[in-house]
Amino acid sequence: MSKYLDLSIQEIHELLVKKEVTPKDLVVECFERIKENETLNAFITLNEDAISIAESLGEVEEDNLLFGLPIAVKDNIVTKELRTTCASKMLENFLPIYDATVVENIKKQKMIIIGKTNMDEFAMGSTSRTSYFDAPKNPWNKNCIAGGSSGGSAACVAARLIPFALGSDTGGSIRQPASYCGIVGMKPTYGRISRYGLVAFGSSLDQIGPMTRNVYENAVLLSNLTSFDEKDMTSSKKEKEDYTRFIGKEIKGMKIGVPNYWMSDIVEEEIRLEMEKTIRRLEELGATVERIDIDYIENAVTLYQIIAMGEASSNLARFDGVRYGYRTENPSDVEEMYRKTRQAGFGREVKRRIMIGSYLLSGENAVTYYNKALQIRDDIKKSFEHAFETYDLIIGPTTTTVAYSLDENLDDPMKSFMDDILVIPVNMAGLPGMNVPIAFNHNHMPIGLHIVGPSFGEAKMYQLAYAIEQDKKLNLNPKEEVA
Ligand code: GLN
Repeated sequence: MSKYLDLSIQEIHELLVKKEVTPKDLVVECFERIKENETLNAFITLNEDAISIAESLGEVEEDNLLFGLPIAVKDNIVTKELRTTCASKMLENFLPIYDATVVENIKKQKMIIIGKTNMDEFAMGSTSRTSYFDAPKNPWNKNCIAGGSSGGSAACVAARLIPFALGSDTGGSIRQPASYCGIVGMKPTYGRISRYGLVAFGSSLDQIGPMTRNVYENAVLLSNLTSFDEKDMTSSKKEKEDYTRFIGKEIKGMKIGVPNYWMSDIVEEEIRLEMEKTIRRLEELGATVERIDIDYIENAVTLYQIIAMGEASSNLARFDGVRYGYRTENPSDVEEMYRKTRQAGFGREVKRRIMIGSYLLSGENAVTYYNKALQIRDDIKKSFEHAFETYDLIIGPTTTTVAYSLDENLDDPMKSFMDDILVIPVNMAGLPGMNVPIAFNHNHMPIGLHIVGPSFGEAKMYQLAYAIEQDKKLNLNPKEEVA
């Protein structure tokens, strides 16, 4: 059997240019791998047109490394005429009539969308178990969660079914599953990638980002996802950048901060020990690493709950059975139509959040909770900015534990928020954050490092991530590691 999809993207590109492989071969192999790994449940919908799209791409573009490569898209990013469900019964049969801007951008690169990945319903969760289509599984141990909410994207890249996936991150949903599955996941600076066509959850936090097998491929993909977009009010006007430009440069002289809270006993000991080892290696490579404090990061989850649930309750008001999505049958009046549609169309977690969010925003509560949370959020941002006056980058573990069993903590919605305790402060501050794998625990489950940069500091983050990746040289292919 061909193994093109185990090659690096540079190697695949060379074969494409020499016509030793075609985009169609890649798509066929991709589908074969997805079929062989169906039990992972990483995809909700496969793109039946992928082969004909591959056949119609035309001449290989020699200067376009992404030409003809397959990519998976999280199912909360709309794709024209390709079902987009947000893993919800509410949108089970929803066929969008337009492409998200980020999807237009990948299509411009002549990448081929293979399918839509499984996730938590409307991206609400940290295990992907709130999906209407059942949870995706972790390729390192199929009894474990892939993480969430971009669990399907993380699982399919980790299992080497496909080199690229898009995820979204409102409170950790790219970085945390990337950490649990042993892949590279980047949440760029808020505004760097257009949110137009990303089904809104917490609009002041949501950001799309790339999930890949390694650092270089992540940087190449991100370089091609960004564009100023008039259709997204918060889209950045900043020029496009080549995010690979510092990759391979030594990290000597780099100043790195490690927040004390991120190395406290909220983090499993085994993960802290791997962090310490990595820090020592960074020092040997010439970086300076110092402990720092960032104000209020220990309160970030509480603030996040107020802000994200408040915004979600307002964003999800549009799913009322009128214009699109599920509608209850034979309602007696419009009031009953709304109620029954929303009762049956949304899952438990989504309804819980709409209720709490509505409460938090009603009357005086908006001032007491939401506005207050925004103020403290601003203080977190300032505290990070202050740290970046001294440090180039900030690091810590991405998660407090490794991926846990699919049936653990099922009845505890609070626990699920705590899975993101280390990554949520970065969304609060609108900063870029990424996961890079650094080790395995005693059960051979991946452990990830979280790198945080100043606004628009992604290129430097890739420089550090690449240096770590080269130093560790981990075998991140589960097929070769586990029977
Ligand atoms: N786990 C967090 C939540 O449930 C984050 C989700 C996300 O980033 N989409 O809200």
